[in-house]
Amino acid sequence: MMYSYTQISQYLACPRRYRHRYLDGWKEKDTRAGMLFGRAFELALGAYFRREDPGDAFFREWSVCKNQDLQFSNRDTWDRMLEQGLMLLTRFCQDNRVEVPQPRQNLQIKFTRPIGRNEFVAYIDAIGKLDRKRCLLEWKTSSCRYAEEPDGVLSLDPQMVCYSWIAGIAEVAQVVFVRKRLVEVQYLRTIITDEQRQDFGQLVEDTIGRIESARFLPHSGVRFPQNPCSSCAYVGLCLGRRDMADDALIRRPGAEDLDWLDELSY
Ligand code: SF4
Repeated sequence: MMYSYTQISQYLACPRRYRHRYLDGWKEKDTRAGMLFGRAFELALGAYFRREDPGDAFFREWSVCKNQDLQFSNRDTWDRMLEQGLMLLTRFCQDNRVEVPQPRQNLQIKFTRPIGRNEFVAYIDAIGKLDRKRCLLEWKTSSCRYAEEPDGVLSLDPQMVCYSWIAGIAEVAQVVFVRKRLVEVQYLRTIITDEQRQDFGQLVEDTIGRIESARFLPHSGVRFPQNPCSSCAYVGLCLGRRDMADDALIRRPGAEDLDWLDELSY
């Protein structure tokens, strides 16, 4: 069985959500504008490092999404996000702080690691240099700034710890493309320690053990007034509201055939 960071983090956030997604075959509809913007922007960054026109690549990819029934948050529109994307690319090119030599080898790099009889896989955005210092690089697009305080907070980011663990690289950086009225690019870097990498390896083994023991009890971390269930795409399934589920989710073809197994395991 192949596991990824997303699977492990979904399980740790709520085991029932993991079950909905990976066992029962439900998946969020790919119509969230922010997510599609991130994908288009990542392709544009690839074009930039290959010395192609990133603005052209971004416009082409983002245009593909234009006629989809996109779900926008806040006051976002397709045009506004296009403008923000182009401004962010311009700012990033002007800053000129990131290098990715040999981009065909050093972008979207696949790493795998055996975990018992299973395998863990991760795709790392890039290995290159930030301000001329070698590091593992991760791109993020966001509508708000990432926290920079307290100092060193990035070293606690589980995704960065995961990538450092699988790639064996201590120096890591996040480049955050912030879509706000005045766009901003944040360059955040940190060092992940050997101990953090070892702990993460144990966390992966422990989590896979729990998944394989079929422990999928819901625990969403409900705490008034923030209730994570209210913003969870799978809430319709947990409430037994098929109409809500159909609005937010699609199901892998053929997954219905496994429903009789669910009855046995509940
Ligand atoms: S609605 Fe709540 S309990 Fe159900 S999957 Fe989502 S977070 Fe978990």
